[in-house]
Amino acid sequence: MSTPLAAPIAPTVTPLVDITTIVEGARQAFASGRTRPRGWRVETLRRLRELVIAHEDAVLRALAADFGKPAFEAWATEIGFIVGDIDHTIAQLDRWMAPEKVPTPIAFQPGSSRIEREPLGVACVIAPWNYPVQLLLLPMIAAIAAGNAVVGKPSELAPHSADAVHAIVRELGEPAVALVLGGVAETTELLTHRFDHILYTGNGRVARVVMRAAAEHLTPVTLELGGKSPAIVSRHADLEVTSRRLAWGKFMNAGQTCIAPDYVLVERDVHDRLVEQLRARIREFYGDDPQRSADFARIVNDSHFHRLEKLLHDGTVAIGGQSDADTRYIAPTVLTGITRDDQVMGEEIFGPVLPIIAVDSLDEAVSFVNTDDKPLALYSFSADEADHDRVLRGTSSGGVCINGTIMHISNPHLPFGGVGESGMGAYHGKDGFDTFSHRRAVHERSTRLDPSLLYPPYTSKKFALVRRGLTLPDPRDLWARALGSMRRRRG
Ligand code: NAD
Repeated sequence: MSTPLAAPIAPTVTPLVDITTIVEGARQAFASGRTRPRGWRVETLRRLRELVIAHEDAVLRALAADFGKPAFEAWATEIGFIVGDIDHTIAQLDRWMAPEKVPTPIAFQPGSSRIEREPLGVACVIAPWNYPVQLLLLPMIAAIAAGNAVVGKPSELAPHSADAVHAIVRELGEPAVALVLGGVAETTELLTHRFDHILYTGNGRVARVVMRAAAEHLTPVTLELGGKSPAIVSRHADLEVTSRRLAWGKFMNAGQTCIAPDYVLVERDVHDRLVEQLRARIREFYGDDPQRSADFARIVNDSHFHRLEKLLHDGTVAIGGQSDADTRYIAPTVLTGITRDDQVMGEEIFGPVLPIIAVDSLDEAVSFVNTDDKPLALYSFSADEADHDRVLRGTSSGGVCINGTIMHISNPHLPFGGVGESGMGAYHGKDGFDTFSHRRAVHERSTRLDPSLLYPPYTSKKFALVRRGLTLPDPRDLWARALGSMRRRRG
């Protein structure tokens, strides 16, 4: 039977007058130096890990209450993701924190050079509702790992989850790690404060609000946004595997995933077979009546439900199409006969509705993708490498998964972020650590030699020597050039 949704509750709200105290508390904690040592970072992450596990049941219940998120999905995409990220971060922290030695050209000898990662200060993390725990805690973990204090702001649209994560952070009892709860008013107030970095996840309209507020303090921002992520299916694709991976990526969390395949461009001769395969997969996953499946989530609120319901009237409903306002259920739906002018192609769908568009060639698919904004994710399905090459070279996107969906963001060694309208900057793993660090350039000079060459008076002899010295090729550059041409010759 499907997961019952809890009755909607009003979000918990931090009184506006308390927000200054919370931000100041974080700033004082950072200024005290407590967040800088490796010991504090590891200990805080370990305790956070323990608390996330201790609160697992409460978090899973909250996610089910907010939008019927199945426990399996909730564990894999929230709890498991967070625990895995903390483990990876702790294991790699020594390496990430170690000063990075870089070469010093001959002209600047004797001396040595390195890059040191130092914390930025107080970070702010603003999260959306669709993966409300993970999208808040993962950036906070990166900020803590980099030695910052951090103030998080969960989404008010998943109020049970916001309360659950608030309980975790309260129990952490760490002055450098705090949450502000609430919606537009509270976030607006929060953004009047000076932060040293803001990571915002959500839609592009609010991203502009965040960036304008950040500009007041010259605060750098990472913007993790969305958009229409296409899947391109070649005539050479294994349609059974393709349909399984498409249906999984699209209908997980009822399509409320920023990197869900938004629509499919399929070569015309395999269009009908792909639709039939999708029908079989949806039945395998969710049974004859997905509304009764415990493995299919619900839409987060009435306004998103009504927005999605309108999209069910575009083109031809090939699969699904049912909806139920009382339980905010939209069936896993596949639409065919869709054109670019249909409403469903107007903006990111962010729900379980998958339009399929037939194209005559991969070139047509690539042009189709390129007439829109650069997507957050792009999926290419084919058994022929040349097809993937055509799609990758012809397009740009935040990330790509070849012959799969979603999985590319699970690898902590890959940056997660958008490009253009789908966002700026990235995090996950080392990229998260670097996002919340300043890469400080350190050049250390020996005092044993101090040639007067660079100092006034600037004689013509010195000038000639400097001109020669500064234009001498660095042996490393000569070596790199030689290696490059060798590789190019080998093809
Ligand atoms: P949302 O409505 O929960 O908003 C996100 C955050 O912005 C919330 O914390 C909210 O309180 C705050 N906010 C809303 N209006 C504001 C305002 N006027 N001023 C200041 N703050 C404000 O979530 P959403 O924006 O509906 O999220 C869905 C979008 O996020 C989709 O486009 C999706 O693709 C994208 N997304 C991206 C990622 C990613 O990692 N790139 C992940 C999840 C979602």
